[in-house]
Amino acid sequence: MKNLLNKIIAVGLILTMGLAFASCSSKKDLTVQKGKLIMATNAYFPPYEYYEGDKIVGIDAEIAKAVADKLGLELEIQDVEFDSIIAGVQSNKYDIGMAGMTVTDERKQAVNFSSTYATGIQSIIVTEDSAITDIDSLLEGDYKVGVQQGTTGDIYMSSSTEDGGVGEERVVRFNKGNDAVLALASGKVDAVVIDNEPAKSFVEANEGLKILETPYAVEDYAMCLNKDNTELLDQVNTALKELTEDGTIPAIIEKYIPSEG
Ligand code: GLN
Repeated sequence: MKNLLNKIIAVGLILTMGLAFASCSSKKDLTVQKGKLIMATNAYFPPYEYYEGDKIVGIDAEIAKAVADKLGLELEIQDVEFDSIIAGVQSNKYDIGMAGMTVTDERKQAVNFSSTYATGIQSIIVTEDSAITDIDSLLEGDYKVGVQQGTTGDIYMSSSTEDGGVGEERVVRFNKGNDAVLALASGKVDAVVIDNEPAKSFVEANEGLKILETPYAVEDYAMCLNKDNTELLDQVNTALKELTEDGTIPAIIEKYIPSEG
């Protein structure tokens, strides 16, 4: 009887330890441990990420590849809604989020950001004959503004007029930046607030649009990572520093955004 009891206790102990181990390992179930770096992006944001055939290319894709190479990891890029990247990084579905993502205080509550690797500017796109000439005329008139859902353009524009926005009622949200631009071209919205580099490609691809000279806000782009994954954050930051110092990152940016002259 005593023997049986001992056996039951022993089995119980093994089960408990097994469970504890399983829960611990599922928490730490990061793909980097299997030699992979999974990056979440939204691949409709040229020149940072976009499709060339069925391949995702662009500044972010190339920088992530260079970082993964340095860390001895295989890069896998997953194309998801911009709005779902942070939640996916928080749940360890993705190791990094990299999508021309602006560092903001609010996002910092949810994820860690790497060092910044690029600067972005929020620009205003209007039709060539628009009465909107600058941010003030956009804010004052009763205009509808198209934005990409969950982006800083959306956050700024949705805020109240006192905070420099036009307010929720005047904002029209789209899943992709280009859909907002198409709505502008067809007269469904009066302006689009979006990052300047994609703005340039969208304006080039659609006749009758222009970017206002007065930029709305200057921002820093960085990768986001799970708050618990500080080891990967350190490795990524070291890699970014080395790749900046040896000229790799400046060359990638110059390739996609050639400096004038
Ligand atoms: N920089 C903007 C942001 O972080 C837009 C990014 C994007 O649309 N990919 O909100």
